[in-house]
Amino acid sequence: MMDMETKFAGLLRDRNLKATPKRLELLSVVANYHTAIPYSELQKELHHFDRVTLYRTINALLDSGIIHKASVSSDEVYYAMCKEYCTSECHNHKHVHFKCLECLEVSCVDVTNPIQIQIPNTIVKQVEIEVSGVCSKCI
Ligand SMILES: [Zn+2]
Ligand SMILES: [Zn+2]
Ligand SMILES: [Zn+2]
Repeated sequence: MMDMETKFAGLLRDRNLKATPKRLELLSVVANYHTAIPYSELQKELHHFDRVTLYRTINALLDSGIIHKASVSSDEVYYAMCKEYCTSECHNHKHVHFKCLECLEVSCVDVTNPIQIQIPNTIVKQVEIEVSGVCSKCI
């Protein structure tokens, strides 16, 4: 297995970003969290980052298609890793975000039927779907 740091450094270089220690550290925190990571948790894990650095590091990775916001409607922002089909031009997620109303965990889940939305006279590039309910652990 390729070690994580090499993998993340490659990911950054592919998107023309320098593999700085801060970016690598943030990526490993996001990737190793069992679900999408809430911002407050990210802050806790990376408490040695100052606010501005954390903000800039997150934004650089968001803009380049390496991580994405996994929930937009809740009070807290959640972040998750992107898959290889996201680029710096466009995020392209073929999954939905599931939020458990009990434990408040947010996860990226693949759907069994492909999501296809067509709007007349437009080109749809990105679809964000957020689903809430009760997760398997909380049922
Ligand atoms: Zn993405
Ligand atoms: Zn739950
Ligand atoms: Zn996701």
